[in-house]
Amino acid sequence: MQTHFMKDRGVDATSQTANTRPADMLTVPDLIRKKRDGGQLSDDEIKAFIQAVKEKTIQDSQIGAMLMAIWLNGMVSAEIKALTREMMSSGEVMEWPDEWKNFMVDKHSTGGVGDKVSLVLAPALAACGCKVPMISGRGLAHTGGTLDKLESIPGFKVEQSREQILEILDSVGCCIVGQTETLVPADRVLYALRDITGTVDSLPLITSSIISKKGAESLSALVLDVKFGRAAMCKDLESATELAQMLVEAGNGLGIRTAAVLSGMNGSIGRCVGNSVEVIESLETLKGNGPDDLMELVTTQGGLLLVMTGLVSDLSEGRKQISEAVVGGAALSKFQAMMEAQGVNSDTAQRLCTTNTDYYSILRKAKHQLELKAPADGIVLEIDGLVLAQVLHRLGAGRSKAGEPVNHSVGAVLLVSIGQRVTKGVSWLRLHYEDPALTPDQRNHLESALTVGTDKKIQTQQKRTLVEKILPKKYAY
Ligand code: URA
Repeated sequence: MQTHFMKDRGVDATSQTANTRPADMLTVPDLIRKKRDGGQLSDDEIKAFIQAVKEKTIQDSQIGAMLMAIWLNGMVSAEIKALTREMMSSGEVMEWPDEWKNFMVDKHSTGGVGDKVSLVLAPALAACGCKVPMISGRGLAHTGGTLDKLESIPGFKVEQSREQILEILDSVGCCIVGQTETLVPADRVLYALRDITGTVDSLPLITSSIISKKGAESLSALVLDVKFGRAAMCKDLESATELAQMLVEAGNGLGIRTAAVLSGMNGSIGRCVGNSVEVIESLETLKGNGPDDLMELVTTQGGLLLVMTGLVSDLSEGRKQISEAVVGGAALSKFQAMMEAQGVNSDTAQRLCTTNTDYYSILRKAKHQLELKAPADGIVLEIDGLVLAQVLHRLGAGRSKAGEPVNHSVGAVLLVSIGQRVTKGVSWLRLHYEDPALTPDQRNHLESALTVGTDKKIQTQQKRTLVEKILPKKYAY
């Protein structure tokens, strides 16, 4: 093969795969050097690397060196495609009954403050006839991930076997579960090493990590919410577009119809940020009382998936069907059934889904609440989502290391919205926190999240919709 050099195995003392590699395959140090020097790895070389990762026949230091070589030099799309496919094939690839095959859908978000879209979208899609095996993560960022949020509901079990997932999809249509041990084991190894080698923020590594796991779900359609802005991993639309294009191409490369939504992430999604407060806001949304920005994300992502599965012919019809499922209560019934199927006592599930319920008779409330007051009369120009998330993280809503617990009760509820006129002294944020109390520095930082002003120009510049772009364009109409 053109990209393989003949090696003399007899003199190759550094090889870690000498017993298994074919005569014309590069050794691991050769592969690292090739990538380090800007070369393009062949499909077979990527396959050999991932196999060695999976079989633990190479050292962590070698994996780390390869990750850094990829971080420094990037990968062309053929390499990303091969890496994604090989990672996906490193473990179990799920199988579904034939009659479901066109309707298997899922989403992924690159992470936002107050991002509770999955909790509303999964049951809405199930109500529209899709099957949603949503495999989600625990947060390693400022607040918890989708699984942490769901675990604030007493009894909710995110760990489900393959057989249980099949059963729940059959009876309910959606589940939200953690990654099983057997799914994409190579990603587990690579992600842990990326974390300690400064190589997390590599577009090819992010792409292969995300898409390989979606590939192992054997999806027919996938939507990606790629966020940009102050509180997002991608700080501007341009870098988010680059990531979105790479993700869409990798998804399509595995035969999954894939689209991306590029959405702004400067503030927070909805009014609640935390774990149990976000569950409450999701349930209120499923009862028809959702905030506009959350509904915009849910209907756009859900609408795209309905288009890609062929259940509707265009995005506006897709948005309408998802909106009707949410506002009309069909999605709420699915969420209730999903909670019960995933271990929540049926009385608890029913009470959570009842109108005007007392959520805190079921979900634990934090020991302390504190309301922050607006410093002046004016118009709310900005509420900085990153600042909110940073303070909540320090108060225990998120984790810094995998395996750490999160505090489900810590959170913040915004009491005002952008563009709203406020008077000095009015409460703009309710903080739920535990001991130890908020420090003066934390309080100052939190107070700095709010910008109140009178500048009409700034006010009219405030964009009230989050979705900036949809890729590929053919799905946007
Ligand atoms: N989520 C993943 O699963 N992998 C990444 O690399 C980033 C986000």
